Amino acid sequence: MPIDATLPYDDNNIFARILRDEIPSQRVYEDDWAVAFHDIMPQATTHILVIPRGAYVSWDDFSARASAQEIAGFVRAVGHVAREQGLVASGYRLLANTGRHSGQEVPHLHVHLFGGQPLGPMLA
Ligand code: C5P
Repeated sequence: MPIDATLPYDDNNIFARILRDEIPSQRVYEDDWAVAFHDIMPQATTHILVIPRGAYVSWDDFSARASAQEIAGFVRAVGHVAREQGLVASGYRLLANTGRHSGQEVPHLHVHLFGGQPLGPMLA
């Protein structure tokens, strides 16, 4: 069920619980600002979610409230994971669903990182 991204942050959303290690995940990277793990229902050969450690629902929420250090750390983590997964030469896609029209299901900002195969057109 897609969420309303204007709602306040829910401390018990599934990614908050993954950050607290209350729910297992297959982590591929973590640092002070971000955690990256394999999506449990991969939609491409490589499908990783990168999330900030901070409590933000959406990209607009994050860009409005996060410190410059948090934003830089998160953006660097996304790029780091793309490089570390060997996706740079062949290319990859980043996607951040936000709110009802996008189908966002988990109310903690996440960037989907897709790659490892031709990805087809957007909005297909
Ligand atoms: O962007 P959206 O909110 O729709 O995506 C949430 C993603 O989180 C889904 O791709 C889903 O498979 C993934 N997920 C996960 N691990 C969970 C719960 C959801 O990887 N425990």
